[in-house]
Amino acid sequence: MRSLLLLGLLLAFGFVPSARAQTVRDIANRGACSTAGLDGISAQLAEAQMCLRPGAFVRFAPAPGISLSSSRIHPFLQASARDALHRAASRTSITINSAFRTLADQYVLYHSGGCGLAARPGQSNHQTGRAVDVQNYSAARSALEGAGCSWLGSSDPVHFDCPGTDRRSDAILAFQKLWNVNNPSDRIDEDGLYGPQTESRLGRTPAAGFARGACGCDAACDGNTIVRDDCSRETCEGGLTCTAEGGLRCVDPACPATGSETRCDGDGVLACENGSASRMACDAGEVCMAGACVSAVCGESDGDVCVDGSTVASCVGGALADMRVCDFGCMAGTCLPAPTGDASVGDSDAGVPSGESDGGFRPVPTSAKGGCSAAGDARGLAPLLLLGLFVRRRRRV
Ligand SMILES: [Zn+2]
Repeated sequence: MRSLLLLGLLLAFGFVPSARAQTVRDIANRGACSTAGLDGISAQLAEAQMCLRPGAFVRFAPAPGISLSSSRIHPFLQASARDALHRAASRTSITINSAFRTLADQYVLYHSGGCGLAARPGQSNHQTGRAVDVQNYSAARSALEGAGCSWLGSSDPVHFDCPGTDRRSDAILAFQKLWNVNNPSDRIDEDGLYGPQTESRLGRTPAAGFARGACGCDAACDGNTIVRDDCSRETCEGGLTCTAEGGLRCVDPACPATGSETRCDGDGVLACENGSASRMACDAGEVCMAGACVSAVCGESDGDVCVDGSTVASCVGGALADMRVCDFGCMAGTCLPAPTGDASVGDSDAGVPSGESDGGFRPVPTSAKGGCSAAGDARGLAPLLLLGLFVRRRRRV
């Protein structure tokens, strides 16, 4: 009962419950030279515009010598304008009334009729981040001009244009993108031009902002840089390259972007796993073959091979499994038997037992002496090779 009475009183005093959200045009129709109430949409527009050119706008306050006359001021400028402002502020304290403005801000200031000197939306240098309105312009003018900013003149005495690039169309484009993201059935041209279509949509835009922001980039590689959908950027370093295959990331150019692969890369093994590489150098005495470090003695051999003509090595899948010195030389992977008629030479446990050697190889009388000599050399080499066998680490990847 009391709530009905309250509603009746409100209606009697002209209060009409709002059936729709307040629009940018509603804010302008208040007739006040103020952007109050635009915080939501302006935050979205500023974000969208900055996403168009990541890093193009920088914060200029807080900074020594600079104060803001309102918490509603967007403290952003292009870097060149910020630097000029800071140079001026090092000479004279400066109070800023206005700096970066969104298209909605400019719409309200222009259409409210409450501000004498607001440029038409789309035409203000405030949208491009190189203009400032200075409250204490008389005191600060000399310092600002000395820092490279130009005074607009007595027609708009607070206004200074500082060094920067003309990016006014970005402010319009940011709105067009934001509108289209939120009104897919009422899309407008994204041309950066402020025409009747854009103006009418801007007026109907909710002052509190849309449901969705337009701060979006197409996630992709930009050369060697990852651009994420929030427009953040990350440059691949350390020789890595950007790929979108199998997910946007930095990968080693020596590896396929997806899948696993192990292969030789020079004197080592390269193991790839979904674009990331791990490299392992083979130990001394090893070489890489078919993606694995193998004994340089064995190569890819399986079975017994001769080493230096006097030592036989047993290889299993390229790995050295055993090595022994032949008394009478090695040929075709087998220790030669003792020369016929000279049974006193050699140990009984070295080389192939004589009983098994008859059908295998013919003795080589002319080289028997040399064979002994070679065996003597091999005896000096064998301990080193055998030591190598035991300390050798056969790393797997
Ligand atoms: Zn101005």
